[in-house]
Amino acid sequence: MSLFPCILSFAQEAQRATLERPKLVVGIVVDQMRWDYLYRYYSRYSENGFKRLMREGFSCNNTFINHLPSATAVGHATIYTGSIPAMHGIVGNEWVDQLTGRAWYCTEDTTVTSVGVEGNSGQMSPKNLLTTTIGDEMSLAQNFRNKVVGVSLKDRAAILPAGHTATAAFWFDDKSGNFISSSYYMDELPSWIRTFNSKQRGARLVANNWNTLYPINTYQQSTADNVPWEGMLSGASSPTFPYELASVYQRKPGVIRSTPFGNTLITEFAQEAITAYELGEGETCDLLTINYASTDYVGHMYGVNSIEIEDAYLRLDQDISGLFEFLDRSIGQGEYLVFLTADHGASSSKGFMDDKRIPTGYWDVDLEATLNRILLEATGVSGIVREDGKIGASYQVNFNHNVIRDHKLDFSVVKNLTIDFLLKQEGIMYAIDMDNASQATIVEPIKTSIINSYHVKRSGTIQIVPDPGWMPSYSQKGTTHGSWNPYDTHIPLLFMGTGIEAGSTNKLVSMADIAPTLAAILKVSFPNGNIGLPILEVVE
Ligand code: ZN
Ligand code: ZN
Repeated sequence: MSLFPCILSFAQEAQRATLERPKLVVGIVVDQMRWDYLYRYYSRYSENGFKRLMREGFSCNNTFINHLPSATAVGHATIYTGSIPAMHGIVGNEWVDQLTGRAWYCTEDTTVTSVGVEGNSGQMSPKNLLTTTIGDEMSLAQNFRNKVVGVSLKDRAAILPAGHTATAAFWFDDKSGNFISSSYYMDELPSWIRTFNSKQRGARLVANNWNTLYPINTYQQSTADNVPWEGMLSGASSPTFPYELASVYQRKPGVIRSTPFGNTLITEFAQEAITAYELGEGETCDLLTINYASTDYVGHMYGVNSIEIEDAYLRLDQDISGLFEFLDRSIGQGEYLVFLTADHGASSSKGFMDDKRIPTGYWDVDLEATLNRILLEATGVSGIVREDGKIGASYQVNFNHNVIRDHKLDFSVVKNLTIDFLLKQEGIMYAIDMDNASQATIVEPIKTSIINSYHVKRSGTIQIVPDPGWMPSYSQKGTTHGSWNPYDTHIPLLFMGTGIEAGSTNKLVSMADIAPTLAAILKVSFPNGNIGLPILEVVE
């Protein structure tokens, strides 16, 4: 044997030893963060939070969501699977099983038990997610020697990102103010969490109540503090600063969700998790998924043009700056990879749009009951449409299939009557029979989005697309999200850290491109329902 193959194998060995993976990937999903927030509050961000991401990282300036509805569970599932609701199965925060008629919450799992709390707030798992996540693929690629941990105030935003093979996922329990989990991951809470919980950090964070970070008259990007379309925080008598929180928290720890301090709490908890699980300290590449949920709760309550949301972003910027500083210290600058994106954006409040003469309205007022009346008149059968179908959240008409079957109704007649009625309503642009969506006269990108989102066993049969600016009526105060429109679907996407060169692109990319981009960087397989494409500007 010559010496040559030996040298070659040494060379191969050397090459293998230098496979460049970050020690830790940190996925940050800012709940309800519109892309324009990067710039709307730019001049008031610190140097080391959002601005550091923009300065040192790579920004995809035109990243859009390619599914409907634009909601938390759907967005998180899509970000981490590179797939679409038609395949990953997370078609909403909740849905109606079309075969059995049973209503499901996205991460509900009756086969597991709560850990760290009595009751069912921990009866959760990723069971209803039908495809693998990037975290699953990282674990498959590294023979499960790595760790994957998900944290959020929201169960769904911790569980879905962490995936099926996760080490753990943790979320916040409103009654106790504790972080909890599920028997899907563990039998009991690890001791570091019990210690963290016993410190009651939430109570400390709200002890000084909520006043603006800077003098309130310097908030130039927002409306006046007291406008009629803002909602009311628990215990408040007007939607105005300062908000009393300390005593409210004692009765209702869940109040922290609707304040910026929920994000600070998650930052602290995430840092504890990095230390306790020794994330980024092994030979392998770990994943930590963080969802900042308070921006969503604050947005829902006060709307996107409020001083409250401006203040929430200025404070989140400081939390993120602190997190980066912690990562630099504990993992090492350049040794970790961060990406930051959002699960969806949000619309301006209806009251705000009325005030500014931007077309708006409520498209779903009494819609399910009215449809049942119309269908009763036409067929003599009552209860054809499910009135618990939450039409304003799903943008779909859910039928009682057993009623249609029992009365031997012609389903196509029922569907046509429904569509005819819907199309006559002010504020409704399209009503589409999802069994024939590809034949319908719908413009892109809406057509692709609704086909991407139709899961035959979980989606309602008729998809409704309202006029731009039109809202579901549950959002009387503050605002919401869910539509295809840019205000709900144009999201930030930034990568920073190991192997990422500073820069930006204005190329149109989709939320489903995030996971395959990570897969390409990390040299692991695409998740098994992936339909996205690696963003070459980031990878190369
Ligand atoms: Zn959300
Ligand atoms: Zn929301």
